[in-house]
Amino acid sequence: MTPEVQEQEINKPASPQLTFADLNVSEEILQAVTEMGFEHPSPIQAEAIPPIMDGRDVIGQAQTGTGKTAAFGIPAIEMIDVADRHPQVLVLCPTRELALQVADEIRKLSKFKRGVRVEAIYGGDSIERQIKSLKSGVHIVIGTPGRVMDHMERRTLKLDNIRMMTLDEADEMLDMGFREDIESILEDMPEERQTILFSATMSKPIMAITQRFQKDPVLVKVVKNELTNQNIEQVYFEVKPKAKVEVMCRLIDMYSLKLLLVFCNQKKRVDEIVEDLQVRGYQAEGLHGDLRQAQRNNVMSKFRSGVTNILVATDVAARGIDVDNVDAVINYDIPLDEEYYVHRIGRTGRAGKSGKAFSLVGKDEKYRFREIQNYTKVKVEKGVIPTFEDIVGIRKARFIDQVRQTIESSEDLNLYNDLLTALQHSGFSTEQVVSALVKRGMGLEKNEFSDQNLGHDEDRRERRGGERDSRFGRDRFDRGGRFDDRRGGRAGDREERPRRDGRFGDRDDRRGDERRSDDRRGDSRRGSFDRDENRAPREREANMTRLFVSIGRRDFVRPGDIVGAIAGEANIPGSSIGHIDIFDKHTLVDVPRDMVNRVLDAMEGNTIKGKRVQIEVSR
Ligand code: ADP
Ligand code: MG
Repeated sequence: MTPEVQEQEINKPASPQLTFADLNVSEEILQAVTEMGFEHPSPIQAEAIPPIMDGRDVIGQAQTGTGKTAAFGIPAIEMIDVADRHPQVLVLCPTRELALQVADEIRKLSKFKRGVRVEAIYGGDSIERQIKSLKSGVHIVIGTPGRVMDHMERRTLKLDNIRMMTLDEADEMLDMGFREDIESILEDMPEERQTILFSATMSKPIMAITQRFQKDPVLVKVVKNELTNQNIEQVYFEVKPKAKVEVMCRLIDMYSLKLLLVFCNQKKRVDEIVEDLQVRGYQAEGLHGDLRQAQRNNVMSKFRSGVTNILVATDVAARGIDVDNVDAVINYDIPLDEEYYVHRIGRTGRAGKSGKAFSLVGKDEKYRFREIQNYTKVKVEKGVIPTFEDIVGIRKARFIDQVRQTIESSEDLNLYNDLLTALQHSGFSTEQVVSALVKRGMGLEKNEFSDQNLGHDEDRRERRGGERDSRFGRDRFDRGGRFDDRRGGRAGDREERPRRDGRFGDRDDRRGDERRSDDRRGDSRRGSFDRDENRAPREREANMTRLFVSIGRRDFVRPGDIVGAIAGEANIPGSSIGHIDIFDKHTLVDVPRDMVNRVLDAMEGNTIKGKRVQIEVSR
């Protein structure tokens, strides 16, 4: 830290008596923050707004979700001269998502300031539209560095009148390789300007930027002591690496988690975890740097609206993302950087609500986790992994609830009366029928993860079908970590898993029925119900033919897409489709030999996920 930097550390929340009026903001801003439901300035706002309004350069360091946008947004709005139709404030953000988020927040804050115009400019959006908007006069420009450079080169964005420049999430922008862009933007700017920099971490490269481009900056820092008093319940579990998904699912069930963020350290892990969760019937999506902006936005909006309830991400991909109501954060891996831990768990327990932070600690992560606890000065309790019985208990209770609700809310239950009679006539007792339905409904079966086999103490003998494959970058969907390996290769079983809420989709039900009627055609005697389960897996494979499909991971295809397309188009039961291996550019899928022609015919010239595919017997 340079000696000139004036440092103000804020160890406690700003005095709750403090109001926005105390910060000498305008009537219009007061009206806006009131409408936005801000009662008091957050600590970073209380400390940063006054020096920024005084015209000082400021370095703000605070974790995600502390209200940094308003901290620089309010002074920015206050300084706009509406009569001057040139850009006067420029904010740089690392991603389109963040640029949009900041623009949105600043628009809300400026709602009562007549004539203030705010525009986000970022890659992936029509440049013509942006040029038109810039021409018509914009006061506050929020952009990603690449697109801002682009506009500067086209001379469609002139910086001559910029009086305030903000780097938001500066460390993230540097991580993303925007250093040169940022430097040339800053060099092109009038000398007489205010430079504000916000960053979650203070690294050497950040300090280099501040020394070069800021004048006598004030450092405003909110340290994370908040963590100690937070409404975040932190618990860790000692888990064998291979059992992490299993344990995670048990925790999700046990605590009825509705919206959660799962963090891991590596990009490629994201996809693996998402698949493992999807295979088990959970609505999960991944977020990592390889996604195109449109896909990223799509994933985020599905998560925000609750269509997806599990978002799996790396630290970098999830930076700055602001979602309320996250009821838990799961650290699938222990982060390499203590700050990351703080950022991760800060995503839950927001806005006065309570949240949970579960850390799955492998043997070789124990040391690092201890370091994190030293750093945050919080002792994290060790949790007990829910047992299989616990989960059965929870699922049963939920199932009973659902059955009760169905009975109470349906008027047409008598439509199904004859079903029971028919089953009884084939020799099943009512108890057998009910038990079979319950088993299907709960979708819960014992798997290779016995309760003793999850934690650290024992050496786990692993049954690994797919290890070789996943090590070579293919995704084989019969990896360990799923329910009951014996039936593992059959996509239909995956389809039959209940969704998180324990209910079946219509489609899944239908598939299940088709399968059963199929079976019955072959063997209508008693016991045909479970015929598949008694059949040796080898025999099944022998009856299968491998097909090549010209769509792969690059097209973001998932097993469900393949099953859906083939089963739907060829009108065959989804459950008859076997192994699915998704590669980068293609997929291999097993279908029953006697259905091959039907599948090839049906799929000819057809599309999967909107992409025209070729399908042929794999050599
Ligand atoms: P950061 O940039 O530090 O991650 P944001 O500026 O995105 O944080 O703010 C996080 C959330 O908190 C936003 O939904 C924002 O509207 C809200 N927020 C900001 N300031 C306040 C405040 N003073 N009181 C209540 N909520 C606030
Ligand atoms: Mg922010």
